[in-house]
Amino acid sequence: MTDQDLHSVAFPRLDPSQMAMLDQCGGATLKKYCDGQTLIQAGMRDFKFFVVKSGAVVIMDDSEAPRRIATLGPGEFTGDVAHLTGGSSLITAVARGDCEVYEVSAEGVREILNRFPDLGDSILQAFIARRQLLRESGKFTGLRVIGSRYSRDTHRIRDFLTRNRMPFVWLDLEADSQVKKLLQQFGLNEADTPVVAWGRKLIFRNPSNRELAEALGLRQPIEQTVYDLIVVGAGPAGLAAAVYAASEGLNTLVMERTGPGGQAGRSMRIENYLGFPTGISGSELADRAVVQAGKFGARLPIPSTVINLTFDNAYSVLQLDGDEKVIGKCILIATGAEYRRLTAEGCEQFEGSGVYYAATLTEAPLCHGAEVVVVGGGNSAGQAAVFLSGVARKVYLLIRGDNLYKDMSAYLARRVEQTPNIEILFNTVVRQMHGNTHLRSVEVVNNKTGEVRTIKTPALFSFIGASPHTDWLPPEIEKDEKQFIRTGTDIARSSQWIARRQPYLLETSRAGVFAAGDVRSGSVKRVASAVGEGAMAVMFVHEYLKEM
Ligand SMILES: Cc1cc2nc3c(=O)[nH]c(=O)nc-3n(C[C@H](O)[C@H](O)[C@H](O)COP(=O)(O)OP(=O)(O)OC[C@H]3O[C@@H](n4cnc5c(N)ncnc54)[C@H](O)[C@@H]3O)c2cc1C
Repeated sequence: MTDQDLHSVAFPRLDPSQMAMLDQCGGATLKKYCDGQTLIQAGMRDFKFFVVKSGAVVIMDDSEAPRRIATLGPGEFTGDVAHLTGGSSLITAVARGDCEVYEVSAEGVREILNRFPDLGDSILQAFIARRQLLRESGKFTGLRVIGSRYSRDTHRIRDFLTRNRMPFVWLDLEADSQVKKLLQQFGLNEADTPVVAWGRKLIFRNPSNRELAEALGLRQPIEQTVYDLIVVGAGPAGLAAAVYAASEGLNTLVMERTGPGGQAGRSMRIENYLGFPTGISGSELADRAVVQAGKFGARLPIPSTVINLTFDNAYSVLQLDGDEKVIGKCILIATGAEYRRLTAEGCEQFEGSGVYYAATLTEAPLCHGAEVVVVGGGNSAGQAAVFLSGVARKVYLLIRGDNLYKDMSAYLARRVEQTPNIEILFNTVVRQMHGNTHLRSVEVVNNKTGEVRTIKTPALFSFIGASPHTDWLPPEIEKDEKQFIRTGTDIARSSQWIARRQPYLLETSRAGVFAAGDVRSGSVKRVASAVGEGAMAVMFVHEYLKEM
């Protein structure tokens, strides 16, 4: 799509018949604003959606010196995906001259999207395109993260904001000479970093993810009610379940500890997902799924880490960190898996400051012009190597065996082999890591020849065997010897299964608790299968709810 096309999608004008639909919408009321009155202030939570009926509204970026982004006339509207996904306003909207607008609540936005599909499509596409324009314009400052590329917390904060699609600018202490001056303006120095600011206003020094999410309005308070379905994990399986469940009228809550997308959100290019012949990035797929789930009314307060599951008669009670509890008639466990830590000496010391478990745009700037190391022989390692070869001078791909095609899809293995600045080191493992505040070199050994080699590198990316996120589950939920959750026929003869009927295909050893995606024993570790299982699980949830 050209910039001009994107701009016309982002700022459409509703025609008179579409404007007339707003009169039928219960959540929309007509209001008058005088010249200079503020309709939305940047940073405002639960801000309203406005459609201009007469007059004009100016949209401003006031995170720096105020800058006009657009002027909206009759038929044009404010708003972005935050109406559906949570989050505060990134822009300020001010009346230019006296104007009349439809003022619509968040519930009203959902009503429009669901009752008037054509109108809803234009609005939804505009919301998505506006975020893309903001991100790609290079002109929008918004949030600033100030910190060193070698700081673990700087990496955490950047990763959290990226995973939650918050546009921000990163000022690297190591590379930007203006940063110290900026810190002085806040009355701070390097020791206070990482620092998060909105334009020239300091928000936090080294905030936790939760503090940041609350300040940015990403984490809305959780309504205390009994949910029809609580999904734990917002990877492809959890997001698919959220979309299907909410669209089928189930009161749905999704608990996610870091950001939507799961492992797939870490993939720069998924090429084998049906319908995307040129590939799609995991974050774009997640972005769209979150908006879709929000459109149907699913709630996704991030971060929400589930630490325990107990049972109260027929209901399941999930304990969150920070002492909150949520109650559901049904639970879907979609907590996926995570790459195992390397056992090499010194590894732990450099996690987040040289050792990474994802290769995305967050990590890419650390690799510019450097030699980097990728460990693993599966598709994720292959994808990471190819992606990093575009920014790094050289990529060493370390695999334990001697056959690249054993665990990697053939198309990807061929691409790795054909990339001139990737060198594959077969039969090789990492033995030691060296550095001070950050990683400087790794020592690798060839298990066949015994040859030891030292590679100078600021970054090592590890993608070795995944283990499931199931350590928070009680014994009632049966697991296999590798701690993946057993479901369906696997638990039909289990002593834990006490219901009279046979378990549904994706049901765990506790009736009403389901599992989908990578966390499930015997699952196919793919985006498409996780999505399919998430969608399927909802069908069993309906069956279970009928029994209650
Ligand atoms: C780099 C990379 C590239 C990949 N590329 C491809 C590809 O090209 N094609 C393909 O088909 N597959 C690919 N895969 C595999 C695919 O991404 C996974 O199979 C898929 O993401 C599994 O989805 P899931 O929803 O089951 O779990 P996950 O994606 O693992 O998501 C689980 C979610 O649960 C959350 N969570 C975990 N524990 C808790 C808790 N206690 N409380 C709250 N939340 C919790 C996690 O934060 C996470 O967001 C790739 C994987 C990686 C890592």
